[in-house]
Amino acid sequence: MSKNILDSGVKRVRNVSRFNVGFGSIGELPEVIDQQRVANKGQAVFLVDHFFRDKEALLNRLQPRPGDLIEFVDTVDEPKTSGIDALLESLKSRGYAHPAAVVGVGGGIVLDTAKAISNLLTNGGRAADYQGWDLVKQPGVFKLGVPTISGTGAEATRTCVMTNPANGLKLGMNSDYTVFDHIIMDPELTATVPRDQYYFTGMDAYIHCIESMAGSYRNAIGDAYSRETVNLCRQVFLGDDMMSAANREKLMVASYLGGCAIATSYVGLVHPFSAGLSVVFGLHHCVANCIVMRAMGKFYPEACDEFWQMADKQGVAIPAGVGANLTSDQHKALYEATVVHQKPLTNALGDGFKSILTPDRVASLFSMM
Ligand code: ZN
Repeated sequence: MSKNILDSGVKRVRNVSRFNVGFGSIGELPEVIDQQRVANKGQAVFLVDHFFRDKEALLNRLQPRPGDLIEFVDTVDEPKTSGIDALLESLKSRGYAHPAAVVGVGGGIVLDTAKAISNLLTNGGRAADYQGWDLVKQPGVFKLGVPTISGTGAEATRTCVMTNPANGLKLGMNSDYTVFDHIIMDPELTATVPRDQYYFTGMDAYIHCIESMAGSYRNAIGDAYSRETVNLCRQVFLGDDMMSAANREKLMVASYLGGCAIATSYVGLVHPFSAGLSVVFGLHHCVANCIVMRAMGKFYPEACDEFWQMADKQGVAIPAGVGANLTSDQHKALYEATVVHQKPLTNALGDGFKSILTPDRVASLFSMM
């Protein structure tokens, strides 16, 4: 029998080594980093979402020491291998070739950037050399993640998503060494997220789990994480105020558990279509997922009903009209960028997924978006 393409090769699952969770847990950060400063005799590099550039309150909580570096990371575009390489060179040229710790403070883009930089500082080479599975050979610099928005699960996963514009590959460094050594999940930090963004990003956790639970490749622990993630998302998004303090804490937990779930399983149809929208129109991952839900009623009927109920309840508008009046070239590009995601599509529809997702069918689905 030929090797099943859904054999992930991940037999021994590695989770984040340590975490803090709860309101005020950011207060633990200085001590954790001080321990690394002593153990590894170096300074800390803080990679911080540019959204916080003028947010003194947050920057003060980080308590940088003399000699540390705070570098703001632009999150207009999702990470590219070339951008990661440029940041790495810039850090090295400023004397940060051997820091004691790399700290990522932000959403998925910043957390993934921190993971990639930490690995490259000890492994050498360029970001594109490690796009794939288990290509990272050495542990990275001690890496600590502080999520400031909930949903992507980047704080929990063993990858860091990057696009390589040279070959169009959107693929991360899938490796046990990519997992954070420590994460701090403080729901106070998500209080200032714009409501729409909070919804789009939170839905990433929900969508990961409804996709993996509908798939054919299953993991018993992954299923348990998924069930609780969906349960928490229901409490948050069908509740009165998705951004109450209690709900922000629940969503932070859901994001982490959803990340653990996806680390042991595969997504399904939503993510490949969403990747198509990202590649062809440059839409960000989480809003693109929500747009794709416009066309998923036939594949995930119950989850779609619930998704629209949640959006109504929270008064969030999902962008419409992206797929209207597309040219045949655009349809061709969207088809290619979708069906390239063989593993999740096989997980959702089986080996013969291309006979279901014909170019015409894919075009009609995109036109619903
Ligand atoms: Zn996702």
